Amino acid sequence: MADLLIQNLSEVATALGVEPLRGAEQGRVERLSGVEVVCRDGRIAFVGPSAERMARFGEMAGAERLDGEGGTLVPGFVDPHTHLPWAGSREEEFRMRLAGATYQEISASGGGILSTVAATRAAGEDELERLVLGRMDRMLAWGTTTAEAKSGYGLDRDDELKQLRAIHRASEIHPVDLVPTLLAAHEVPPEHRDTRERYVELVCEEIVPAAAEAGLARFCDVFCEHGVFTVEESRRVLESGRRWGLAPRLHADEFEDSGGARLAAELGALSADHLIAISPAGIEAMAAAGVTAVLLPGTSFFLMKHTYAPARHLVEAGIPVALATDCNPGSSHTESMPMIFVLAVYELGLSIEESLTAATLNAACCLGLGEEIGSVEEGKRADLVLLDAPNLLHLAYHYGVNPVAAVVKGGRVVFTASPP
Ligand SMILES: [Zn+2]
Repeated sequence: MADLLIQNLSEVATALGVEPLRGAEQGRVERLSGVEVVCRDGRIAFVGPSAERMARFGEMAGAERLDGEGGTLVPGFVDPHTHLPWAGSREEEFRMRLAGATYQEISASGGGILSTVAATRAAGEDELERLVLGRMDRMLAWGTTTAEAKSGYGLDRDDELKQLRAIHRASEIHPVDLVPTLLAAHEVPPEHRDTRERYVELVCEEIVPAAAEAGLARFCDVFCEHGVFTVEESRRVLESGRRWGLAPRLHADEFEDSGGARLAAELGALSADHLIAISPAGIEAMAAAGVTAVLLPGTSFFLMKHTYAPARHLVEAGIPVALATDCNPGSSHTESMPMIFVLAVYELGLSIEESLTAATLNAACCLGLGEEIGSVEEGKRADLVLLDAPNLLHLAYHYGVNPVAAVVKGGRVVFTASPP
């Protein structure tokens, strides 16, 4: 594999380190000018001035070159919360919502997530893989190089495993890396509406072991929310996951304070996600336990709730904050991390630097990948995004456009916005 030399950059902007940044540190982003980047064997081998690069690596005559054209280089975005393997589409339900129906009302009338469950159960594994690949193409074009992807629209053993296999197959052939999560406890399936206890048992005793034994999942997730799974049920599912080697993460406190954040702290989860309705006790517990808050402002935006997670309180409490798309057909239909970045700055009140850390290093750390990805520094995997922007600030300042000029994955240029 040829070395890659990235030159003519106006700026390299990155958080540094292998641990999540929290509190005042969350906004500690290096903005370097006059530097070049060398990638070797898929990793970042050098970040520094041209003269130093010449001294260490010489002319690099055989290397590939990426002309930065005065742009800004940032770490590849890491999207730590998506629901990629779904079939079907819910634009009619979206129109109902525009006419005034709430998400909960649509769910109660048999629409919502259960319509996606029906479509996903009916889809074959090949079709799901194709759908996932299409979404990964859009992710890559918007700068995402690693994403978490959840099952959760199968809600029975075979269909959950089918979703996880589609994630694996897509990840093997696409430049974007996917990290798989079992979310069998996303909703109670229709056939268990009157026997929900039996479904929780099925998840704990059949679906979790089957996914773990097949090596198809790294994490176990649960939708802990009033009207979905209780704290007690969520604890059972996540403890079962942990017995089978799947680390816990949670959908917590999205619509009301359901105790999910406190459960995440109690279990030492890698993340608690959503947190729009988190209580002061939940904030205190997460801070003490060091649980990362994954915020999904696209959901607040798409559901038009005008209520966002208390991001500033979370940062000030010393909780590492990460950002994700929540890409799914019902409550946040986007693959774009730059869109989420804009919402984080405009609606969550995070600074541009805090948002960059949240969309890269902190997101990587909450997937257990902080040693590998999430920053532009020597030794890390060369997953990089070249922005068509003179500095980092444009990532929020120039909104509604795709800022990505090129994407480097594992030291290779895998995407360019215009033909090279
Ligand atoms: Zn979700």
